[in-house]
Amino acid sequence: MNEILSELEPDARVLDLGSRSGSFPATATQARVVRFDLDFGPDRGFVQGDARSMPFRDCCFDAVIANHSLEHIEGLKPCLGEIRRVLKGNGRLYVAVPDASTFSDQLYRWLAHGGGHVNAIVDSHQFADWLEAETGLKVSAIRLLHTSLAFANAHGPVRWSRRVWLIGGGHEWLLRSASYWARRCDARLGTRWSVYGWAFYLGDLPDIDEVPATNVCVRCGAAHVSEWLKAIGAVKAGWPWRSYRCPECRTENAFTDDAPRPT
Ligand SMILES: [Zn+2]
Repeated sequence: MNEILSELEPDARVLDLGSRSGSFPATATQARVVRFDLDFGPDRGFVQGDARSMPFRDCCFDAVIANHSLEHIEGLKPCLGEIRRVLKGNGRLYVAVPDASTFSDQLYRWLAHGGGHVNAIVDSHQFADWLEAETGLKVSAIRLLHTSLAFANAHGPVRWSRRVWLIGGGHEWLLRSASYWARRCDARLGTRWSVYGWAFYLGDLPDIDEVPATNVCVRCGAAHVSEWLKAIGAVKAGWPWRSYRCPECRTENAFTDDAPRPT
């Protein structure tokens, strides 16, 4: 999503859809940010309302960010119609959603007794076609997203039911280990244990890096490109894994190399 946010001019407007307190920091863009959610949010610039009938005029946003929110919205078709209406003709759209067939999403829904995931998306190409048809925008790129199961972290903001104790109590060392071995297993055996879902980029966009970032922080959930972590000197040797401190929250994580990038 930073590929879209960082390109916006100071006089641009971006809608953070279904974000409550925000799905990205205000410092990620120079543009004016409007946070919008059905539930009340505390931030300045927050607007409360229904995503199927937005209180905004036509063509007033340069970009819409739907970061882990469309899976929660009942009646997606009218919501996508509203995105189409409020976006400018040359607007850009970012959508990140979980793959409902993954271990990660199934675990989340089990822990959270559904977790408010009312839309189950399992086919990225079918969903991309539908996004294009409903928004009138072209999909420029799709990137696979990975998970560290940060949602189950005992240090996280969510207080879970006793179900979390059945999977080890959300201890960080356990999530770090599970996340590392899931990624290794995926890389070696082609499984999808560490997969979360997809990011869809719509609109006229420059080249987007479609290689998945496998290093996802077990505490804050931020994903970082492995070559970048190496370049800033964050990766430390060790056994059984190399480690890095998350640049966002300073939490220690196990490190894995991403797939090679095309040259
Ligand atoms: Zn972090």
